Amino acid sequence: FVFVKQKTAYEMLRSLVGSEMCIRDRRKRMRGGTGSVRIRHFFRKEELACPLRLVAELRLSPGDSIGLHPHHGEEEIFIVVAGKGEISEDGIAWEPIGPGDATLTPSGRSHTVRGTEGELVMIAVIGACA
Ligand code: MN
Repeated sequence: FVFVKQKTAYEMLRSLVGSEMCIRDRRKRMRGGTGSVRIRHFFRKEELACPLRLVAELRLSPGDSIGLHPHHGEEEIFIVVAGKGEISEDGIAWEPIGPGDATLTPSGRSHTVRGTEGELVMIAVIGACA
């Protein structure tokens, strides 16, 4: 099995997980949003035999956002670990999110998220529909 445990695990399991360099990512104005989003990919797509295309930790500071974007043929789950933010489905109304909250954006819907207080830390999982 592949055990991802911070930097130590990347070093121990370099052949399976890859170097820390290639699984940490920083996206500016992600999906037309503001600021930047720090991304830590736990697994690479090619390591996943089942139809998951993303399993990652996202970090947004207050004012950072991921712009409104659709998901077609896939669904995305966010699980909030720390910090506070707001999420909107289809860009209509904003809902506050905080630690312990989870959201599911089904196929065919859009979402946008922004950090509001502290560093918003979320686990994001995207799975393809059967
Ligand atoms: Mn999304």
